[in-house]
Amino acid sequence: AAPARDRLRIAIQKNGRLAEPARALLSACGLSWRESRDKLFCYGESLPVDLLLVRDDDIPGLIADGVCDLGIVGRNELDEQGAARVQAGLAPAFHALRGLGFGQCRLMLAVPDEWEWQGPAQLSGTRIATSYPAILKDWLAARAIDAQVVELSGSVEIAPRLGTADLICDLVSSGATLRANQLKPVETLLDSEAVLAGAVRSPDDARGALMAMLLRRLDGVVQVQDRKLLMFRAEQANVPALEKLLADAEPLVRLPADEGALRLQTMCPGPLTWQRMEELERAGAQQLMVLSVERSLA
Ligand code: ATP
Ligand code: MG
Repeated sequence: AAPARDRLRIAIQKNGRLAEPARALLSACGLSWRESRDKLFCYGESLPVDLLLVRDDDIPGLIADGVCDLGIVGRNELDEQGAARVQAGLAPAFHALRGLGFGQCRLMLAVPDEWEWQGPAQLSGTRIATSYPAILKDWLAARAIDAQVVELSGSVEIAPRLGTADLICDLVSSGATLRANQLKPVETLLDSEAVLAGAVRSPDDARGALMAMLLRRLDGVVQVQDRKLLMFRAEQANVPALEKLLADAEPLVRLPADEGALRLQTMCPGPLTWQRMEELERAGAQQLMVLSVERSLA
């Protein structure tokens, strides 16, 4: 068992796509740190919660070994290492505790543009290049497809042109990299985002209580991220159309206003674009007011 510790340790990416958003999220939870000179360790000042800055590949292993209690990592990386453990006959050691709403991408199969895609059955006998061999093997096995998995640590997208594979299985966000390599996405294996990961067995000492508090704060922060309180005036007759435009928001709160009109307010999830504001105005919203919602620190 890992030695008893009274400080919580969280592993996050040192450099890369998840590094900044991970730190910003933890700061929003009220954490602050003093950075060490080598910039690998951040000592928690406001709470006994320290950060370890590492490569994202190392995060699941640090949790499995009990070196860190929590980590912020892509679901793709966590699932890959989890599947690899199971394939090697090891017990599950870590799991995702929360989706964090950033770092979105998909693990997808992509084939050369000229292929006519007819479905997964077409993959029998092909060679598939990927950095996610364990997830891919599980996916193929579940469909009884006999294909060869070619493991590459990087530059997977050039494998078909080099002739080392027929197609690839790789992360996609905008699709620009695929297009630049004359590939097209055809199947999604995983919808990924950054997650907060933790050990399957959570610590039963002081760290457990710290972890519970951090999770509560995190839920509050993630929930209100991007949320806006929207207030406006509208004539009765325009309310149904406005409700339709705000179908993804909470039900409208209606208050009587002057001359039989209504004051309406609602909490809008997701970003409020200018375009959306203008649509609301065209549909009859007057005196539109938008307020950012911060979580109250009661
Ligand atoms: P490290 O040096 O830490 O190993 P890395 O090169 O493996 O870094 P990044 O490229 O920074 O990792 O990506 C980190 C994570 O960001 C990915 O594992 C994935 O979850 C997420 N991500 C979001 N969009 C993309 C994308 N278009 N390509 C790759 N990863 C993406
Ligand atoms: Mg990496």
